[in-house]
Amino acid sequence: MARFTRDIGLYYLALAITPLLFAFYSQAGPLGQTVLLWGTIAFGSVYLTLLVLGMVHLAHREISRARIAAILLGLSLFMGYTLLQHSWPFASAASGVITFSVGALTWRWLWASEHSERWAGPLLCLMGVTQCGQLVLGVEATTPQFMLNTLLRLVLGLVLFQTALQRATTEANRLREQFERLTWNSHQGVAIAYSQEIIYCNPAFLKIYGLSSLAQVSPQWLSASIPADELAAIMTLRHQVLDGTREDAAWEGLRRRMDGTPLRLRFAIWRTQWEGQPALQTVITDDTERHDTIAALLHQASHDELTGLPNRGALLRRLRERCQTSDPDETFSLLLLDIDRFKLFNDAYGHSMGDEVLKALAETLQRELAGVAEVSRLGSDGFALLETRAADAAPSPELAQRVQQILAWPLVLPEQEFFVDVSMGLALYPQTGADAESLLRAANAAMHEAKKIAGSSVVVAEQRFVRGSAEVLEQEQALRAGIINREFSLAYQPKVDANSGALLGFEALARWHRAGVGAVSPLQFIAAAERTGLIGSLGMLLLSQVCEQLLVWHDAAVKLVPVAVNVSPLQLLDPGFPQLVDSTLKRYGVAAELISLEVTESAAIANMEQALAQLNQLRDLGLKVALDDFGTGFSSLAMLRTLPLSVVKIDRSLIEPMPAPDAIAVVQAICQLATTLKLRVVAEGVETEAQAAAAQLAGCHEIQGYYHARPLTPETALQWLHAGANPIC
Ligand code: C2E
Ligand code: MG
Ligand code: MG
Repeated sequence: MARFTRDIGLYYLALAITPLLFAFYSQAGPLGQTVLLWGTIAFGSVYLTLLVLGMVHLAHREISRARIAAILLGLSLFMGYTLLQHSWPFASAASGVITFSVGALTWRWLWASEHSERWAGPLLCLMGVTQCGQLVLGVEATTPQFMLNTLLRLVLGLVLFQTALQRATTEANRLREQFERLTWNSHQGVAIAYSQEIIYCNPAFLKIYGLSSLAQVSPQWLSASIPADELAAIMTLRHQVLDGTREDAAWEGLRRRMDGTPLRLRFAIWRTQWEGQPALQTVITDDTERHDTIAALLHQASHDELTGLPNRGALLRRLRERCQTSDPDETFSLLLLDIDRFKLFNDAYGHSMGDEVLKALAETLQRELAGVAEVSRLGSDGFALLETRAADAAPSPELAQRVQQILAWPLVLPEQEFFVDVSMGLALYPQTGADAESLLRAANAAMHEAKKIAGSSVVVAEQRFVRGSAEVLEQEQALRAGIINREFSLAYQPKVDANSGALLGFEALARWHRAGVGAVSPLQFIAAAERTGLIGSLGMLLLSQVCEQLLVWHDAAVKLVPVAVNVSPLQLLDPGFPQLVDSTLKRYGVAAELISLEVTESAAIANMEQALAQLNQLRDLGLKVALDDFGTGFSSLAMLRTLPLSVVKIDRSLIEPMPAPDAIAVVQAICQLATTLKLRVVAEGVETEAQAAAAQLAGCHEIQGYYHARPLTPETALQWLHAGANPIC
């Protein structure tokens, strides 16, 4: 409200009371007259002060409080003097003079204005003049003076009303322009709406929605821009803010630009006035970029860059969710798969081709197993499949069979096709493990077991794969008892010359006939000995047994051939190992040339620096070292060059597909490099005549496998030693 309207409003109020006081005066007693007289003085001085204030404010001028007080005091004295000393007509004329003076001043101040306010001064002057009528013209002029004065006040009231309206409109326009200026350059979208109808929006609003003008923004557009499931709630909020039930509201959501691009918007609304009407002001913040950045970061943190698949962390989270289920019937399979000989593949075709194969495998698995399993990538050539939902209560190795079917077809790359073999470890929830970590550990252990089987293979994890302390203790007890009770024996598998078939050596293979259990596979008990830390003492026991056996054969007066003893990479990493071997050989008096060592290629010996010193010392002692199971995935061709090795044993999984031409090509490449490096090459796991012929053709120097002989008892091995070859041939 403009200040002058308040002042003039109060002026009119005080003015309206004064004639009443005058009317009562003539009928009142002496006391009443005294009270009414002083009342008239008070009201008269107050309304005149208000008139002065009103005109000062109408002219946009300022006046101090002290001056107001001084004016009020002066007017009170003046009005009191005129009324008490003179008469009512005299007082009325005195008031007229003051009104005239104020009018003259206002006239001067406002005559230049273009608005109706310029008439306030002349009207006040006229009013002042008319108020003197009774004094000049006598009592007869009372009624005309009163009527004229009332008329003039009415006109002044209308003039001031018009002025107030004009000023309110000017002020509203000024505010609106200021608002528009403020919002024009804002990055946030701003809109003003009466209920459903948007009456103003800034350029940012149009830009966010991809609109060209406000004309496109209809109530229908507004409703259509809000997703159906949010519409009712948002409309309720808008009504509540508009009718004042709530102060403001805020929400965020997914919207679409006119071209269909998704947008992430934040909305805030509150009530405002627009051209005198209650309206809703909406401020829209476009959060799309920030949202997309956060989503991209989250995706990056939980996904593999190469294949775009969820990574190990994401798999663990999913597994934990699945394991925390309250559904007692929940059951699912976790299948880990690892590509066989992938390192070799990278060496042969280059890393970028390796990446292409990984991508192709990831895509194939995702496509073929959509709805069946969630695929994630665990690391270099390892993937995990988490069964979406088992078909029945007991999960079966069906998922693994499905993968085997899928991989029976080649992976199609733009220029080439590749077949890949994978080793798979399958863990079942809840049979194998009840939590994410033990399931993953068990599946991983089973996958490593599968690695030892040629071609694509699957091993189902049993409870024993879930390594718990109680089980480790049990294994340790059994192994210790086995070592003490000498339950371990050795079988000897001949290695023959690839060309002549002559016996060149034996491989000593450990056998455990566990008391009360029966035969245990070396794959199992060697792994258990590695886990429990007993591999060192077991290894030395077996080496001693080989030495004893050599002495027995020596006593049978035959020409001895070297015997290869398998050594765990964990033994090799022990800096004291070469010394232990040396002292054992010396104890039995066995020449170093009669013993060779086979070290399985593994992640441990891929860490070359740690194995290098021991390998050098063994070579200095005169022992030959073979890299066993070459091609199963950990080592690279570069390792052959760096490590002081004498023999490389090509893994059964590379020999098995022979005589297929591409399999021969791989073996041939290894043989060529090995020969350049002066390494002897042994083909392992040769089961057929065709494989033996192909291995010879590819360049292998020695052959070992069921085709020539299974692992033999020491007695049968002695017959081989006597014959110098297969005694049956
Ligand atoms: P490895 O050193 O690669 O031994 C060769 C394995 O292949 C032996 O299995 C042998 O029986 C098997 N094999 C030989 N020819 C053929 C064939 O033509 N076809 C098939 N299918 N298999 C064939 P085994 O005896 O079960 O030994 C398995 C693994 O256990 C060995 O693999 C070796 O890594 C480990 N191992 C065995 N004895 C010892 C030992 O005394 N010390 C250590 N540290 N590890 C041992
Ligand atoms: Mg071996
Ligand atoms: Mg082997």
